[in-house]
Amino acid sequence: MVLRFKYPDEWSCECGRRHRVPLREVVVEENALLRAAEIIDRLHLGRNCLIVEDHATKIIAGDQVRGALTDAGYSVSEAIIERADMASVERARQQLRGYDFSMAVGGGTPIDVAKLATHRSHVPFVSVPTALSHDGIASPIASIAQNRAKTSLLAHPPIAVIADPQILVKAPNRMIAAGYGDLVSKATSVKDWELGRDEKGEYYCKRAATLAFQAMADVVRATKAPWSKEGARELLEALLNCGASMILAASSRPCSGAEHLFSHFLDAHAERPAMHGEQCGLGTILMAKHHEDHNPNWWKEPEFQWQNIKRILRNIEPELSLREIGIDENVAARALLEAANLRPDRYTILHKRPLTKAEAIFLLEQTSIA
Ligand SMILES: [Zn+2]
Ligand SMILES: [Zn+2]
Repeated sequence: MVLRFKYPDEWSCECGRRHRVPLREVVVEENALLRAAEIIDRLHLGRNCLIVEDHATKIIAGDQVRGALTDAGYSVSEAIIERADMASVERARQQLRGYDFSMAVGGGTPIDVAKLATHRSHVPFVSVPTALSHDGIASPIASIAQNRAKTSLLAHPPIAVIADPQILVKAPNRMIAAGYGDLVSKATSVKDWELGRDEKGEYYCKRAATLAFQAMADVVRATKAPWSKEGARELLEALLNCGASMILAASSRPCSGAEHLFSHFLDAHAERPAMHGEQCGLGTILMAKHHEDHNPNWWKEPEFQWQNIKRILRNIEPELSLREIGIDENVAARALLEAANLRPDRYTILHKRPLTKAEAIFLLEQTSIA
């Protein structure tokens, strides 16, 4: 697997828009963080850096980044962020005053917060992923909690991504499984975008859709063990391809369809929501079956059918089910009935063909993911 986009890049696309991929460096190699200063030197970002991290990612990678930059004469401070909410974004913005750029070291939370805070402060940020649990590593979309619900806000993509596969494979299995869940969700999100194009005349970019689709297909067809360094690199590259598709679309549209609405509903209503990618993975199994039953333009290839998506996810997390991730079956049934209301503007298979209560329960039974 490879990055299926050029960077930096700017061109007029046949979709009618002018696209710009501002990403300037992607460095994925062992001990890459030790080379952070040399990479930042090349980008001419300035000398003052604010590292945004949480307590765990500070130890996993943040201290390494700090060491590499201070050794090279950079002035470095840290912001510890534990929640991806507006208060954290505001706090990070205050701390960013006087800094030239930020390094976002994390899983989802520090990257989401740094993405929005730096965007609003007009300074660039570098993404340093420590886990592969979601596709936001290089996307311009920040997922921020507002009044219990997570909202996707358009921010800006990173100027560079620096990752060490040795760190990524050490992340808990659950996180890697979540990354696969977020990735297979492109099987349904891309089809939902096509529905929006065909039935609502919505803007659509073939390049962006193909990038997201290929990222999913690469992983579905991959043969490498997900726990190997090579497997981690493949998953990372697929997630970066998804990020690029969202850069082109300037929204989460290519990568977020009905399966994401299902997950957003659980975030707002489950007693204890599970990881984004786990919820999206289960949502994809459900929505793939729903597409299969009601969308004549659903994929014909056997590898993208719901049984195979389920097989792939269970291959990584054998017990994957609603119960296993702590989601009540009744809340999941409600999500199938009500999730479409979360975003009436984002047309999906759940808008095209809403489920009845009996159908929602039957869908959960048929896919046996409860
Ligand atoms: Zn996602
Ligand atoms: Zn385009």
